[in-house]
Amino acid sequence: MNIRTATINGVPKELRVRDAARGFQFSESIMPAADAGALRARIEKVAAVASVHASVVDREARFPCEAIDAARAARLLGIGVPRELGGEGLGAADVVDVCYALGKACASTAMIYAMHQTKVACLVRHGRSGAWHQLLLRRLCAEQLLLASSTTEGQAGGDLRNSSAAIEGEQRIALERQATVISYGEAADGIVTTARRASDAASSDQVLVAFLKEDYTLERLNGWDAFGMRGTCSSGFKLIASGLREQIVPASYEKIHSHTMMPFAHLAWSGAWAGIAAAAVDRARGFVRKAAHRSGGALPPGAAHLTRATASLRTLRSLIAAAVRRFEAASADVAVLESLEFQTGMNMHKVSASELAVATVMSAMQACGLAGYRNDSEFSIGRHLRDILSSPIMISNDRILANVGAASLLGGTPISLRD
Ligand SMILES: Cc1cc2nc3c(=O)[nH]c(=O)nc-3n(C[C@H](O)[C@H](O)[C@H](O)COP(=O)(O)OP(=O)(O)OC[C@H]3O[C@@H](n4cnc5c(N)ncnc54)[C@H](O)[C@@H]3O)c2cc1C
Repeated sequence: MNIRTATINGVPKELRVRDAARGFQFSESIMPAADAGALRARIEKVAAVASVHASVVDREARFPCEAIDAARAARLLGIGVPRELGGEGLGAADVVDVCYALGKACASTAMIYAMHQTKVACLVRHGRSGAWHQLLLRRLCAEQLLLASSTTEGQAGGDLRNSSAAIEGEQRIALERQATVISYGEAADGIVTTARRASDAASSDQVLVAFLKEDYTLERLNGWDAFGMRGTCSSGFKLIASGLREQIVPASYEKIHSHTMMPFAHLAWSGAWAGIAAAAVDRARGFVRKAAHRSGGALPPGAAHLTRATASLRTLRSLIAAAVRRFEAASADVAVLESLEFQTGMNMHKVSASELAVATVMSAMQACGLAGYRNDSEFSIGRHLRDILSSPIMISNDRILANVGAASLLGGTPISLRD
């Protein structure tokens, strides 16, 4: 589409140009400037609330209720739902940018938002043809419902493509699942979970099912006293759910996973991680500025680490922006979405983004030295470092690298840098 000439309801669309201090370079997010500005103001309002409560959320390992309430008040939970169902029809670029803005303020809030939006994206793309899911999406927008995700089960770790617990029943269905981790399970209004299609189905023959709060009970299996991402409240639960067969998303989970769940999750998560990294760089910049001011303009010895942190943040942001563009370009073409190259690329995006995010926060901490290491300093990087260290293990990078290993044997290196 020619973004310079296109219109929405007669209003010229504008390419949302990168604001280096705020968002990503958007090539796909095409909104009238007034709408873009209004969205930015809504995001900033929520980020400000998240920022105020971030330390206490971390200290007490509690759900960031103020920030999520603010997101509800700003109507940010349904932005990815099509307009005809009550949402705003925004794409991955906008959602990822919200994750980034929230990540700068409070990592847990950003990750909760990222997980919620990933579930919304799965329902929008694969469930919206069904009356039940349409109604759910309408309710989600009207009531600003928050959806949690259950994929990790028993001892299977990050093996999302196999489920143990099966859907039982015919018209009325039931599911009982040992969910090792369900972030904000108790605070959510619904849980979107994977399951084996039927008791006689193979573990890889999976479906995705949406249950609303009234459909299930949660029995706590363990708590969440974690190193970082403490506000995600990612406890383990026995999930006992029942509902109607229509609550199962019609597409196979295999399709949902490759078309939406995996790429969208990796983009949204990396947006949140880039936000954490950006916040750490801001602190490091503040530290170096203060030190330079005190010594008559001479940079402190750790300033080189700030240069490194700034450069790796820039690379991280470019990586995410390129991956978002790639996803949005592929979204219209099933063959591209299912290609080995796209699937490997989106998996490797997760690995690269998490590694760069960790490296950026580490460099920021080195720039601050002791002031970054201390918890009681205005330049402390402790919370950012603890939060960002969740990124390589949230679906282990080792698992991903092992899974895509065979793909590295195929093909060759491109002839030109432009290929
Ligand atoms: C903050 C946070 C929030 C989360 N929220 C949710 C949620 O809401 N819902 C949900 O379902 N899950 C959630 N998870 C879980 C997440 O999706 C993964 O399932 C989980 O992080 C993987 O757990 P694991 O490290 O125990 O398991 P594993 O994947 O088994 O990894 C364990 C270790 O084994 C190694 N390993 C694993 N596979 C391989 C391999 N093939 N080759 C080499 N080494 C390998 C890795 O080194 C890894 O460190 C969350 C995780 C985090 C960190």
